[in-house]
Amino acid sequence: MSSTPTHRIFNFSAGPAVLPEPVLEEAQRDLMALPGVGMSVLEISHRSAAFDRILGQAEADLRALTGAGDEYHVLFLQGGASQQFAMVPMNLLPPDGVADYSLTGSWAKKAAAEAAKFGRVNICATTEEEAFTRVPAFDGLQVSDGSAYVHVTSNNTIVGTQWPSMPDVGDTPLVVDASSDLLCRPIDMTRYGLIYGGAQKNLGPAGLTLVIIRADLAERGPESLPTMLRYAVAAKNRSRYNTPPVFAIYLFGLVMRWLLDNGGLAAMETRNRRKAALLYEAIDRTGFYRGTAQTGSRSLMNVTFRLSSEELERRFVTEAGEAGFSGLKGHRSVGGQRASIYNAFPESGVEALVAFMAEFERVHG
Ligand SMILES: *Cc1c(COP(=O)(O)O)cnc(C)c1O
Repeated sequence: MSSTPTHRIFNFSAGPAVLPEPVLEEAQRDLMALPGVGMSVLEISHRSAAFDRILGQAEADLRALTGAGDEYHVLFLQGGASQQFAMVPMNLLPPDGVADYSLTGSWAKKAAAEAAKFGRVNICATTEEEAFTRVPAFDGLQVSDGSAYVHVTSNNTIVGTQWPSMPDVGDTPLVVDASSDLLCRPIDMTRYGLIYGGAQKNLGPAGLTLVIIRADLAERGPESLPTMLRYAVAAKNRSRYNTPPVFAIYLFGLVMRWLLDNGGLAAMETRNRRKAALLYEAIDRTGFYRGTAQTGSRSLMNVTFRLSSEELERRFVTEAGEAGFSGLKGHRSVGGQRASIYNAFPESGVEALVAFMAEFERVHG
């Protein structure tokens, strides 16, 4: 085998998504043997001292970034955000209780549908009549009396909307699916009862599901639950009741260190705002492109837009592909284009896309 220089194109995929290049380089460098260990992270026991350090450091760095203190457990699970759609109500929704769900897109609907298998679900807000092109206003939230929790999808990956901040739901635990925007900006942990997300968008590779849960909530799941589906078991065993996804946790740890080395979440937010503003300005400039999400609800992570015809949209995606931009086709349920620009997506890629959009408009406008 020879090593040839690798050409990377601009990857706008919604997930699994682009990872920071220094992370990939370090993983590549240490793949044959971790320094001082002499074995690859793929080959060591999940109970070894070396992996203890990797998991401990990843958790400590995540806590440093988010400010999550001892009152929260950090859990490294599997099954994706989709499994959390079930685990959340199994653990937190008593059979005679009610949970509130805000419907802001297809993922939120899936979460609510899963919860309805375990208890009563109240839809506390929905923007479905506007095709989910905005998030609900805070004062429109109708939280039930005695609600077990309020579930919010912080960033709606498919339609491209994002809550500007989290709604105040008082003492009711706030449960947030943050699969596509966790760590894109500073976070006030005290507002959250539970945050979850698949790692493959903004945090690392596929195969790892991150859960940050307030310790008292983790104890609520009944003992009758399947062992692997109880938060309390994962917490008690520090995510190692069984074999966790070791390689994904290792890569997640490298991403956490990359975030810290690059100024943490405040710096990420500044960069993310700059990247998103460039794209939205390009979309708004003339009317040739139309933003899918309403202003005020536009996502920093998934920028969605349409052209005047599907024919032109197909052409856009084809020509963009030829120009070295991958992953711009919108989700099949909404059509159009979607540029996912997570933390690791380089600013130079956004600038290149903006230039391509101007040229495409000049030729086809
Ligand atoms: C991608 C995504 C999911 C599904 O994640 P899986 O890890 O594939 O189960 C759920 N919610 C949101 C907001 C997503 O973006």
